[in-house]
Amino acid sequence: MNTEKKRILMIATGGTIACKRSDGGLKPVLTSQELLAFVPDAANFCQADAVQVLNIDSTNIRPEHWLMIAGAIQEHYDDYDGFVVCHGTDTMAYTAAALSYLIQNSPKPIVITGAQKPIDLEITDAKTNLLDSLSFASCSRAHGVNIVFDGKVIAGTRGKKERTKSYNAFSSINFPYIATIQDGHVIFYLDDKEHLTAPVQFYRELDDKVALLKLIPSMDGGVLDYMAAHYDAIIIESFGVGGIPERETGDFHDAIRRCVQAGKIIVMTTQVTNEGSNMSVYEIGKNIKQQFDLLEAYDMTLEAVVTKLMWIMAQTREPQAVREMLYRTVNRDILFTGKE
Ligand code: ASP
Repeated sequence: MNTEKKRILMIATGGTIACKRSDGGLKPVLTSQELLAFVPDAANFCQADAVQVLNIDSTNIRPEHWLMIAGAIQEHYDDYDGFVVCHGTDTMAYTAAALSYLIQNSPKPIVITGAQKPIDLEITDAKTNLLDSLSFASCSRAHGVNIVFDGKVIAGTRGKKERTKSYNAFSSINFPYIATIQDGHVIFYLDDKEHLTAPVQFYRELDDKVALLKLIPSMDGGVLDYMAAHYDAIIIESFGVGGIPERETGDFHDAIRRCVQAGKIIVMTTQVTNEGSNMSVYEIGKNIKQQFDLLEAYDMTLEAVVTKLMWIMAQTREPQAVREMLYRTVNRDILFTGKE
């Protein structure tokens, strides 16, 4: 048995975990070294180094930051056994999904974590989350991109922040937890590292011309024309399993036709968090889906669809290739694609 301590690289990016109180409110100021110093027990099971890539509130995260984080992991990939990214919780689900597309088939674990309370407070979830993340990143059976938060391990494409204040802020949407961590012990529910066959693959580009339209009952279709003038892919977050409003004016219908004719990518999804879309159930979705051959998210999270489109569009705009890539499973992101 190999009892050597695992080498882990901790990458700090800011967020509440690194915040201190100031007159202007919580602000990320702690450095990566200072964060590590709060979890001395980690030295019992791993040898951790720390680098600072950013120190921002994750409200300010942008696709170029995802490329920086993935770039830091790629640069040090051969030198470490696992990676822990400390990140703000607000956009953590987007970053975890983006990293899932930028770094595929990684046999080494890449963990994203953060906290609801700063690590320098007496009562905080930060120390447990960081220690759990280092434990999971040191686990030989762990692989790929995952969120570790509040004792749960969530596939990087399945996380969603569902609570703004509680410690159990993140849920795994339409997918089971990968593992739980109790008192530093990892209990796997999905233990499948031996199924990894392809080598790790890094991608270096994202295309951010992706927009989201959340439907409300008063909306008119003109907003789609506006979005199409500025973006190349539009995700329409519809109601229930999915449909497009039919009005006497036919405004949405006509706007979708114009978008499709202009070569825009339209992906239908749902405002309902759990169980996903299926446009083929109701007449109000099925007709328009068939007429324009619309794509849909099915059981993918919004965060996964947004970042997957950015990854796809950096490689192709060819409609059949976009369809094939959107429906191909990456890091457990999609199970159902409408085929029974
Ligand atoms: N606003 C903070 C951030 O996302 C919230 C947090 O980290 O919990 O950076």
